[in-house]
Amino acid sequence: MVHLVSLLRNKELPGERVYHEAYAKSKIGVVFWIITERCNLKCIHCYRNAGIEGQEGPPIEKAHQIIEKINTLGRTLIFVSGGEPLIYPYIFDVLVELKRNGHRVILSTNGTLINEEVAKKLQDIGVDYVAIPMYGEEEFHDYITGIKGSYRKVVNTISLLRDSNVNLGLKVTVMKSTLPHIDYIFDFAVKNNVKLLYLCDFLPKGRGTNLSREIPTKEDWRSMLIRLTRKVLDNGYDIELDIGLHPSAGVYVLRELGAEKILDSLAKSNRRFASEGRGSVTISPNGDVSISEFLTNIKIGNIFQNTWEEILSHPLYRAVGDSSNLKGRCGQCPYKHVCGGSRVKAYYYKGDLLEEDPSCLIN
Ligand code: SF4
Repeated sequence: MVHLVSLLRNKELPGERVYHEAYAKSKIGVVFWIITERCNLKCIHCYRNAGIEGQEGPPIEKAHQIIEKINTLGRTLIFVSGGEPLIYPYIFDVLVELKRNGHRVILSTNGTLINEEVAKKLQDIGVDYVAIPMYGEEEFHDYITGIKGSYRKVVNTISLLRDSNVNLGLKVTVMKSTLPHIDYIFDFAVKNNVKLLYLCDFLPKGRGTNLSREIPTKEDWRSMLIRLTRKVLDNGYDIELDIGLHPSAGVYVLRELGAEKILDSLAKSNRRFASEGRGSVTISPNGDVSISEFLTNIKIGNIFQNTWEEILSHPLYRAVGDSSNLKGRCGQCPYKHVCGGSRVKAYYYKGDLLEEDPSCLIN
């Protein structure tokens, strides 16, 4: 996660504060909980290949055990996602329990299953953020999700949640085909009081395996990053640009906008954009724990079988969190301790978690 606007404005988002406090206390700051593999949409690029089949999610007793285990970490930042988490039969019990225990909870949903009643429930529970995808105008959005009418549902959801005072984030996967729609999504977000726009790089995995033509170029990323950041800063907009799967975006933007000093202070405080091995864990529906939501195949333990200590002592977790182990251009890079490169892309494209990030925007 790279929060470009907060970095440039020298601010800390509430979620970042929770992350850093939890990390200092228990060495885990953020938990991604994939609560179900099932989804009612058929997005063409879904890296999890989620659909109506797949694991429904843990029975409620097991879900409570997972929450108890998370509680031992103290207050953390928790992303509840899927699949589509609102398909999971005990989702509201889980959200209530997580909030009751003081966690900062973000619900990552496709936004199509939220009606007035659900919006009210989410407000009453006190979910801190709801993140919803938008890929562009109606026809294009429905093409990407594979379901006609999904755009209209998302727009309706946004208005219901806004009226219920639930914080909103929009998320989009940056692909060759979504690039021409990014400014539409940005403008939509600003107009609708959405406080965060999550721009995640495309990984040709799962249903996206055969879509390598959709991988954006480095120049696509560079021009989009500078254009959107300038739009926010020049207009004084209150919106965060959160960059996923692209740690070097932080280095690139800070350098381009003459804010390199911020990189020095981040390095001194031992903060790194690439969160793999740095207090971020992912829990799958069966309780397996991995280093990233994109690499659930790399198991470092199981929530029911291992202690947190055992999980965090896994050699892969430890190796990936230490930037002095990096290889190739990342290994030689003066920014490796603050950037770290995408460990997901290093593994996916080079077959080695410690290899260089081939999508680096600097080198
Ligand atoms: S070479 Fe690696 S560590 Fe350096 S900026 Fe690029 S991705 Fe980051």
